[in-house]
Amino acid sequence: MSDAAFLDHGTGPGCRDVRQERGQREVFCGLTSIVWMHRKIQDAFFLVVGSRTCAHLVQSAAGVMIFAEPRFATAIIDERDLAGLADLDDELDRVVGRLVERRPDIRLLFLVGSCPSEVIKLDLSRAAARLSTRFMPECRVLSYSGSGIETTFTQGEDNCLAGLVHEMPREAAGAAPSLLVVGALADVVEDQFRTLFAGLGIADVRFLPPRQGRSLPAVGAGTRMLLAQPYLAETARLLEGRGARLLPAPFPFGAEGTTAWLRAAAQAFGVDRGRFDAVTGPGRARAQAAVARRGADLAGKRVFFFPDSQLEVPLARFLARECGMEPVEVGTPYLHRQHLAAELDMLPAAARIVEGQDVDLQLDRCRAARPDLTVCGLGLANPLEAEGFATKWSIELLFSPTQGYEQAGDLADLFARPLRRRALLEV
Ligand code: SF4
Repeated sequence: MSDAAFLDHGTGPGCRDVRQERGQREVFCGLTSIVWMHRKIQDAFFLVVGSRTCAHLVQSAAGVMIFAEPRFATAIIDERDLAGLADLDDELDRVVGRLVERRPDIRLLFLVGSCPSEVIKLDLSRAAARLSTRFMPECRVLSYSGSGIETTFTQGEDNCLAGLVHEMPREAAGAAPSLLVVGALADVVEDQFRTLFAGLGIADVRFLPPRQGRSLPAVGAGTRMLLAQPYLAETARLLEGRGARLLPAPFPFGAEGTTAWLRAAAQAFGVDRGRFDAVTGPGRARAQAAVARRGADLAGKRVFFFPDSQLEVPLARFLARECGMEPVEVGTPYLHRQHLAAELDMLPAAARIVEGQDVDLQLDRCRAARPDLTVCGLGLANPLEAEGFATKWSIELLFSPTQGYEQAGDLADLFARPLRRRALLEV
Protein backbone atom coordinates (compact mmCIF):
# COMPACT_ATOMS: atom_id res chain seq x y z
CA MET A 1 0.00 0.00 0.00
CA SER A 2 1.30 3.43 -0.75
CA ASP A 3 1.91 6.09 1.82
CA ALA A 4 0.70 9.37 0.29
CA ALA A 5 -0.54 12.55 1.83
CA PHE A 6 -1.21 16.14 0.94
CA LEU A 7 0.65 18.59 3.12
CA ASP A 8 -0.55 22.15 3.43
CA HIS A 9 2.36 24.47 4.15
CA GLY A 10 0.33 27.55 4.93
CA THR A 11 0.72 30.85 3.16
CA GLY A 12 3.79 32.92 2.32
CA PRO A 13 6.82 32.49 0.06
CA GLY A 14 7.24 28.94 -1.21
CA CYS A 15 4.10 27.66 0.52
CA ARG A 16 2.16 25.28 -1.69
CA ASP A 17 0.16 22.14 -1.18
CA VAL A 18 2.53 19.29 -1.85
CA ARG A 19 1.54 15.66 -2.27
CA GLN A 20 4.05 13.39 -0.61
CA GLU A 21 4.51 9.81 -1.76
CA ARG A 22 6.65 7.08 -0.28
CA GLY A 23 6.36 4.06 -2.53
CA GLN A 24 8.37 2.24 -5.17
CA ARG A 25 10.81 4.55 -6.97
CA GLU A 26 12.33 4.50 -10.45
CA VAL A 27 15.46 6.64 -10.29
CA PHE A 28 19.14 6.37 -11.16
CA CYS A 29 21.76 6.28 -8.44
CA GLY A 30 24.40 8.93 -7.63
CA LEU A 31 27.12 7.14 -9.60
CA THR A 32 25.62 8.69 -12.72
CA SER A 33 26.84 12.13 -11.69
CA ILE A 34 30.43 10.98 -12.23
CA VAL A 35 29.77 11.53 -15.93
CA TRP A 36 29.53 15.32 -15.60
CA MET A 37 31.66 15.72 -12.46
CA HIS A 38 34.74 14.14 -14.05
CA ARG A 39 34.39 16.47 -17.03
CA LYS A 40 34.22 19.44 -14.69
CA ILE A 41 37.10 18.75 -12.28
CA GLN A 42 39.86 18.12 -14.76
CA ASP A 43 42.52 16.73 -12.42
CA ALA A 44 40.19 14.42 -10.49
CA PHE A 45 39.72 10.67 -10.74
CA PHE A 46 36.60 8.83 -9.55
CA LEU A 47 37.18 5.29 -8.30
CA VAL A 48 33.87 3.55 -7.67
CA VAL A 49 34.11 0.84 -5.04
CA GLY A 50 31.29 -1.37 -6.19
CA SER A 51 29.99 -4.32 -8.17
CA ARG A 52 30.05 -5.22 -11.85
CA THR A 53 26.58 -3.66 -12.10
CA CYS A 54 28.03 -0.34 -10.89
CA ALA A 55 30.85 -0.63 -13.45
CA HIS A 56 28.33 -1.26 -16.24
CA LEU A 57 26.17 1.66 -15.15
CA VAL A 58 29.01 4.19 -15.15
CA GLN A 59 30.45 2.82 -18.37
CA SER A 60 27.14 2.92 -20.23
CA ALA A 61 26.18 6.35 -18.85
CA ALA A 62 29.52 7.65 -20.13
CA GLY A 63 29.46 5.26 -23.07
CA VAL A 64 29.91 7.76 -25.85
CA MET A 65 33.12 9.08 -24.33
CA ILE A 66 36.15 6.98 -25.16
CA PHE A 67 39.31 8.26 -23.52
CA ALA A 68 42.90 7.16 -23.91
CA GLU A 69 43.19 7.77 -20.17
CA PRO A 70 39.74 7.70 -18.58
CA ARG A 71 39.27 9.44 -15.26
CA PHE A 72 36.87 6.99 -13.69
CA ALA A 73 37.02 3.28 -12.96
CA THR A 74 35.46 0.66 -10.69
CA ALA A 75 37.25 -1.39 -8.07
CA ILE A 76 35.07 -4.50 -8.11
CA ILE A 77 33.91 -6.01 -4.84
CA ASP A 78 33.59 -9.74 -5.65
CA GLU A 79 32.16 -12.77 -3.87
CA ARG A 80 35.30 -13.32 -1.78
CA ASP A 81 35.05 -9.77 -0.50
CA LEU A 82 31.35 -10.09 0.22
CA ALA A 83 31.96 -13.35 2.10
CA GLY A 84 34.54 -11.57 4.24
CA LEU A 85 37.37 -13.76 2.93
CA ALA A 86 39.58 -10.87 1.79
CA ASP A 87 40.89 -7.84 3.61
CA LEU A 88 39.16 -5.09 1.66
CA ASP A 89 41.25 -2.30 3.14
CA ASP A 90 44.44 -3.98 1.93
CA GLU A 91 42.96 -4.57 -1.52
CA LEU A 92 41.80 -0.99 -1.79
CA ASP A 93 45.21 0.33 -0.74
CA ARG A 94 46.80 -1.86 -3.41
CA VAL A 95 44.43 -0.71 -6.16
CA VAL A 96 44.82 2.97 -5.25
CA GLY A 97 48.61 2.62 -4.94
CA ARG A 98 48.84 1.16 -8.45
CA LEU A 99 46.53 3.84 -9.85
CA VAL A 100 48.37 6.80 -8.31
CA GLU A 101 51.73 5.40 -9.40
CA ARG A 102 50.56 4.92 -12.98
CA ARG A 103 48.68 8.25 -13.18
CA PRO A 104 50.75 11.04 -11.62
CA ASP A 105 48.37 13.56 -13.27
CA ILE A 106 45.69 12.71 -10.67
CA ARG A 107 45.61 15.41 -8.00
CA LEU A 108 42.28 14.56 -6.43
CA LEU A 109 41.01 11.02 -6.06
CA PHE A 110 37.44 10.29 -5.01
CA LEU A 111 36.59 6.90 -3.57
CA VAL A 112 32.92 6.64 -4.51
CA GLY A 113 30.76 4.36 -2.37
CA SER A 114 28.02 2.20 -3.87
CA CYS A 115 25.17 -0.02 -2.66
CA PRO A 116 27.50 -3.03 -2.17
CA SER A 117 30.13 -1.03 -0.27
CA GLU A 118 27.37 0.44 1.90
CA VAL A 119 25.78 -2.94 2.55
CA ILE A 120 29.06 -4.46 3.74
CA LYS A 121 29.74 -1.25 5.70
CA LEU A 122 33.08 -0.54 4.09
CA ASP A 123 34.34 2.63 5.76
CA LEU A 124 35.52 4.65 2.76
CA SER A 125 35.99 7.88 4.71
CA ARG A 126 38.56 6.12 6.93
CA ALA A 127 40.21 4.60 3.85
CA ALA A 128 40.34 8.03 2.19
CA ALA A 129 41.96 9.62 5.26
CA ARG A 130 44.54 6.81 5.39
CA LEU A 131 45.34 7.04 1.68
CA SER A 132 45.43 10.84 1.72
CA THR A 133 48.10 10.75 4.42
CA ARG A 134 50.08 8.38 2.22
CA PHE A 135 49.78 10.31 -1.06
CA MET A 136 49.60 13.98 -0.03
CA PRO A 137 50.71 16.52 -1.17
CA GLU A 138 50.73 15.08 -4.72
CA CYS A 139 47.26 13.55 -4.48
CA ARG A 140 44.42 14.20 -2.05
CA VAL A 141 41.98 11.32 -1.47
CA LEU A 142 38.35 12.00 -0.51
CA SER A 143 35.26 9.83 -0.39
CA TYR A 144 31.53 10.20 -0.88
CA SER A 145 28.53 7.99 -1.48
CA GLY A 146 26.97 7.45 -4.90
CA SER A 147 24.85 4.57 -3.68
CA GLY A 148 21.32 4.13 -4.96
CA ILE A 149 19.97 3.33 -1.50
CA GLU A 150 17.69 6.26 -0.71
CA THR A 151 19.44 8.65 -3.09
CA THR A 152 18.88 10.03 -6.57
CA PHE A 153 21.42 10.64 -9.28
CA THR A 154 21.96 14.36 -8.75
CA GLN A 155 22.68 13.74 -5.07
CA GLY A 156 25.94 12.24 -6.28
CA GLU A 157 27.02 15.80 -7.12
CA ASP A 158 25.74 17.09 -3.77
CA ASN A 159 27.69 14.41 -1.89
CA CYS A 160 30.82 15.05 -3.95
CA LEU A 161 30.71 18.83 -3.37
CA ALA A 162 29.89 18.36 0.31
CA GLY A 163 33.14 16.37 0.55
CA LEU A 164 35.02 19.30 -1.00
CA VAL A 165 33.55 21.86 1.44
CA HIS A 166 35.54 20.30 4.30
CA GLU A 167 38.73 20.87 2.31
CA MET A 168 38.10 24.50 1.35
CA PRO A 169 40.58 26.92 2.93
CA ARG A 170 39.29 29.36 5.51
CA GLU A 171 38.86 32.95 4.25
CA ALA A 172 41.01 35.50 6.06
CA ALA A 173 39.14 37.40 8.77
CA GLY A 174 37.84 40.76 7.52
CA ALA A 175 38.26 39.79 3.83
CA ALA A 176 36.07 41.71 1.37
CA PRO A 177 32.82 39.96 0.34
CA SER A 178 33.18 37.43 -2.46
CA LEU A 179 30.63 35.58 -4.56
CA LEU A 180 30.66 31.77 -4.59
CA VAL A 181 28.66 30.07 -7.35
CA VAL A 182 27.83 26.56 -6.17
CA GLY A 183 27.07 23.67 -8.52
CA ALA A 184 28.77 22.16 -11.57
CA LEU A 185 28.25 24.27 -14.69
CA ALA A 186 29.58 23.52 -18.16
CA ASP A 187 32.79 25.51 -18.70
CA VAL A 188 31.17 27.57 -21.45
CA VAL A 189 28.34 28.58 -19.09
CA GLU A 190 30.79 29.38 -16.29
CA ASP A 191 32.74 31.67 -18.65
CA GLN A 192 29.56 33.48 -19.71
CA PHE A 193 28.60 34.09 -16.07
CA ARG A 194 32.12 35.30 -15.26
CA THR A 195 31.78 37.90 -18.04
CA LEU A 196 28.37 39.02 -16.76
CA PHE A 197 29.56 39.30 -13.15
CA ALA A 198 32.62 41.27 -14.31
CA GLY A 199 30.30 43.61 -16.24
CA LEU A 200 28.31 44.12 -13.04
CA GLY A 201 31.51 45.01 -11.20
CA ILE A 202 31.51 41.89 -9.00
CA ALA A 203 35.20 41.16 -9.22
CA ASP A 204 35.80 38.30 -6.79
CA VAL A 205 33.73 35.41 -8.15
CA ARG A 206 34.59 31.82 -7.28
CA PHE A 207 33.10 28.55 -8.43
CA LEU A 208 32.54 25.27 -6.62
CA PRO A 209 33.56 22.83 -8.01
CA PRO A 210 36.65 24.49 -9.47
CA ARG A 211 38.09 23.21 -12.75
CA GLN A 212 41.19 22.05 -10.87
CA GLY A 213 40.58 20.15 -7.66
CA ARG A 214 43.72 21.56 -6.05
CA SER A 215 42.44 25.15 -6.48
CA LEU A 216 39.58 25.08 -4.00
CA PRO A 217 38.18 28.55 -3.22
CA ALA A 218 38.33 29.92 0.31
CA VAL A 219 35.13 30.32 2.32
CA GLY A 220 34.20 32.44 5.31
CA ALA A 221 31.88 35.09 6.72
CA GLY A 222 32.32 37.29 3.63
CA THR A 223 31.17 34.55 1.23
CA ARG A 224 27.84 35.17 -0.52
CA MET A 225 26.65 31.98 -2.17
CA LEU A 226 24.46 31.61 -5.19
CA LEU A 227 23.22 28.09 -5.94
CA ALA A 228 23.41 27.14 -9.62
CA GLN A 229 21.58 23.85 -9.01
CA PRO A 230 18.54 23.09 -6.86
CA TYR A 231 19.80 19.76 -5.50
CA LEU A 232 22.67 20.91 -3.29
CA ALA A 233 21.02 20.80 0.12
CA GLU A 234 23.91 19.22 2.01
CA THR A 235 26.61 21.28 0.29
CA ALA A 236 24.73 24.52 1.05
CA ARG A 237 24.20 23.45 4.67
CA LEU A 238 27.91 22.81 5.14
CA LEU A 239 28.88 26.07 3.45
CA GLU A 240 26.51 27.96 5.75
CA GLY A 241 28.20 26.17 8.64
CA ARG A 242 31.47 27.70 7.42
CA GLY A 243 30.04 31.21 7.40
CA ALA A 244 28.75 31.56 3.81
CA ARG A 245 25.45 33.39 3.37
CA LEU A 246 22.90 32.06 0.88
CA LEU A 247 21.45 34.53 -1.64
CA PRO A 248 17.87 33.29 -2.21
CA ALA A 249 17.02 33.25 -5.92
CA PRO A 250 15.28 31.26 -8.63
CA PHE A 251 17.64 29.08 -10.68
CA PRO A 252 19.29 30.35 -13.88
CA PHE A 253 17.07 28.59 -16.43
CA GLY A 254 15.63 30.74 -19.22
CA ALA A 255 15.66 34.53 -19.58
CA GLU A 256 13.57 35.14 -16.47
CA GLY A 257 15.35 32.71 -14.15
CA THR A 258 18.81 33.87 -15.26
CA THR A 259 17.89 37.54 -14.75
CA ALA A 260 16.46 36.91 -11.27
CA TRP A 261 19.51 34.82 -10.33
CA LEU A 262 21.93 37.53 -11.48
CA ARG A 263 19.80 40.17 -9.76
CA ALA A 264 20.16 38.38 -6.41
CA ALA A 265 23.94 38.74 -6.72
CA ALA A 266 23.67 42.32 -8.00
CA GLN A 267 21.53 43.36 -5.02
CA ALA A 268 23.90 41.69 -2.53
CA PHE A 269 26.85 43.59 -4.06
CA GLY A 270 25.06 46.94 -4.38
CA VAL A 271 24.99 47.10 -8.20
CA ASP A 272 22.69 49.90 -9.34
CA ARG A 273 19.62 49.25 -11.48
CA GLY A 274 20.91 51.09 -14.55
CA ARG A 275 24.13 49.12 -14.68
CA PHE A 276 22.27 45.85 -14.10
CA ASP A 277 19.87 46.53 -16.97
CA ALA A 278 22.68 47.64 -19.29
CA VAL A 279 24.74 44.49 -18.61
CA THR A 280 21.94 41.92 -18.62
CA GLY A 281 19.58 43.53 -21.18
CA PRO A 282 21.23 42.26 -24.38
CA GLY A 283 21.56 38.66 -23.10
CA ARG A 284 18.01 38.71 -21.80
CA ALA A 285 16.69 39.91 -25.17
CA ARG A 286 18.70 37.24 -27.03
CA ALA A 287 17.37 34.56 -24.68
CA GLN A 288 13.76 35.72 -25.08
CA ALA A 289 14.08 35.72 -28.87
CA ALA A 290 15.71 32.27 -28.93
CA VAL A 291 13.05 30.79 -26.65
CA ALA A 292 10.28 32.33 -28.76
CA ARG A 293 11.82 30.83 -31.90
CA ARG A 294 12.70 27.40 -30.56
CA GLY A 295 9.83 27.01 -28.11
CA ALA A 296 7.02 27.71 -30.58
CA ASP A 297 6.22 23.99 -30.65
CA LEU A 298 5.66 24.01 -26.89
CA ALA A 299 2.96 26.67 -26.46
CA GLY A 300 -0.33 25.30 -25.19
CA LYS A 301 1.10 21.78 -24.65
CA ARG A 302 0.71 19.89 -21.36
CA VAL A 303 3.77 18.47 -19.58
CA PHE A 304 4.04 15.85 -16.82
CA PHE A 305 7.24 15.44 -14.75
CA PHE A 306 8.16 12.17 -13.07
CA PRO A 307 10.60 12.72 -10.16
CA ASP A 308 14.19 12.13 -11.24
CA SER A 309 16.71 14.96 -11.54
CA GLN A 310 15.47 17.41 -8.85
CA LEU A 311 15.49 20.03 -11.62
CA GLU A 312 11.76 19.51 -12.15
CA VAL A 313 10.42 22.58 -10.31
CA PRO A 314 12.62 25.22 -12.03
CA LEU A 315 12.15 23.54 -15.40
CA ALA A 316 8.37 23.47 -15.00
CA ARG A 317 8.51 27.16 -14.09
CA PHE A 318 10.54 27.89 -17.25
CA LEU A 319 8.24 25.84 -19.49
CA ALA A 320 5.11 27.44 -18.02
CA ARG A 321 6.20 31.07 -17.94
CA GLU A 322 8.47 31.35 -20.96
CA CYS A 323 7.23 28.62 -23.30
CA GLY A 324 3.50 28.71 -22.57
CA MET A 325 3.26 25.07 -21.48
CA GLU A 326 0.86 23.78 -18.86
CA PRO A 327 2.55 21.66 -16.16
CA VAL A 328 0.02 19.06 -15.08
CA GLU A 329 2.14 17.33 -12.44
CA VAL A 330 5.60 18.28 -11.21
CA GLY A 331 7.14 15.32 -9.43
CA THR A 332 10.47 15.74 -7.68
CA PRO A 333 12.42 13.26 -5.54
CA TYR A 334 12.99 15.87 -2.81
CA LEU A 335 11.67 19.38 -2.34
CA HIS A 336 13.92 21.81 -0.50
CA ARG A 337 11.34 24.45 0.38
CA GLN A 338 13.85 27.13 1.31
CA HIS A 339 15.99 26.77 -1.83
CA LEU A 340 12.93 26.43 -4.07
CA ALA A 341 10.73 29.07 -2.42
CA ALA A 342 11.00 31.59 -5.27
CA GLU A 343 10.44 28.86 -7.85
CA LEU A 344 7.33 27.49 -6.11
CA ASP A 345 5.83 30.97 -6.02
CA MET A 346 6.19 31.23 -9.80
CA LEU A 347 4.63 27.87 -10.68
CA PRO A 348 1.04 28.03 -11.96
CA ALA A 349 -1.43 27.35 -9.14
CA ALA A 350 -3.01 24.46 -11.05
CA ALA A 351 0.24 22.47 -11.27
CA ARG A 352 0.18 19.47 -8.90
CA ILE A 353 3.45 19.19 -6.98
CA VAL A 354 4.51 15.76 -5.75
CA GLU A 355 7.52 15.01 -3.57
CA GLY A 356 8.80 11.43 -3.54
CA GLN A 357 7.30 8.69 -5.64
CA ASP A 358 4.89 5.82 -5.80
CA VAL A 359 5.54 4.89 -9.39
CA ASP A 360 2.35 2.87 -10.01
CA LEU A 361 0.08 5.62 -8.72
CA GLN A 362 1.99 8.15 -10.74
CA LEU A 363 1.79 6.11 -13.94
CA ASP A 364 -1.99 5.90 -13.41
CA ARG A 365 -2.21 9.69 -13.05
CA CYS A 366 -0.04 10.18 -16.13
CA ARG A 367 -2.19 7.84 -18.24
CA ALA A 368 -5.34 9.62 -17.04
CA ALA A 369 -3.87 13.06 -17.81
CA ARG A 370 -2.58 12.09 -21.32
CA PRO A 371 0.06 14.88 -21.35
CA ASP A 372 1.64 15.97 -24.64
CA LEU A 373 5.12 15.52 -23.12
CA THR A 374 6.35 13.36 -20.24
CA VAL A 375 9.72 14.08 -18.64
CA CYS A 376 11.07 10.99 -16.89
CA GLY A 377 14.00 8.67 -16.26
CA LEU A 378 15.27 6.20 -18.84
CA GLY A 379 13.55 3.25 -17.16
CA LEU A 380 10.08 4.71 -17.69
CA ALA A 381 10.66 6.34 -21.07
CA ASN A 382 10.57 3.24 -23.27
CA PRO A 383 7.38 1.74 -21.80
CA LEU A 384 5.67 5.14 -21.98
CA GLU A 385 6.79 5.67 -25.59
CA ALA A 386 5.34 2.22 -26.39
CA GLU A 387 2.04 3.44 -24.93
CA GLY A 388 2.10 6.44 -27.28
CA PHE A 389 3.53 9.12 -24.96
CA ALA A 390 6.19 11.57 -26.16
CA THR A 391 8.98 11.47 -23.57
CA LYS A 392 12.07 13.44 -22.63
CA TRP A 393 14.86 11.77 -20.67
CA SER A 394 15.51 13.96 -17.66
CA ILE A 395 19.15 12.86 -17.48
CA GLU A 396 19.86 14.65 -20.79
CA LEU A 397 19.20 17.92 -19.01
CA LEU A 398 22.27 17.27 -16.86
CA PHE A 399 24.48 16.28 -19.76
CA SER A 400 23.78 19.45 -21.78
CA PRO A 401 24.65 23.09 -20.98
CA THR A 402 21.25 24.53 -20.03
CA GLN A 403 21.78 27.47 -17.65
CA GLY A 404 22.17 31.09 -18.65
CA TYR A 405 20.95 33.40 -21.41
CA GLU A 406 22.85 31.83 -24.30
CA GLN A 407 21.50 28.34 -23.55
CA ALA A 408 17.83 29.31 -23.07
CA GLY A 409 16.89 28.54 -26.68
CA ASP A 410 18.64 25.16 -26.54
CA LEU A 411 16.83 24.38 -23.30
CA ALA A 412 13.46 25.03 -24.94
CA ASP A 413 14.57 22.96 -27.91
CA LEU A 414 15.43 19.97 -25.71
CA PHE A 415 11.73 19.78 -24.82
CA ALA A 416 10.46 20.65 -28.29
CA ARG A 417 12.44 17.90 -30.07
CA PRO A 418 10.42 14.91 -28.82
CA LEU A 419 7.21 16.69 -29.79
CA ARG A 420 8.51 17.39 -33.30
CA ARG A 421 9.70 13.79 -33.64
CA ARG A 422 6.31 12.42 -32.60
CA ALA A 423 4.52 14.81 -34.97
CA LEU A 424 6.68 13.50 -37.82
CA LEU A 425 5.96 9.88 -36.88
CA GLU A 426 2.25 10.58 -36.83
CA VAL A 427 2.18 12.07 -40.35
S1 SF4 B 1 25.41 1.97 -6.71
FE1 SF4 B 1 23.67 0.61 -6.37
S2 SF4 B 1 22.06 1.35 -7.76
FE2 SF4 B 1 24.03 2.23 -8.46
S3 SF4 B 1 24.74 0.78 -10.02
FE3 SF4 B 1 25.72 0.19 -8.05
S4 SF4 B 1 24.32 -1.37 -7.23
FE4 SF4 B 1 23.18 -0.29 -8.84
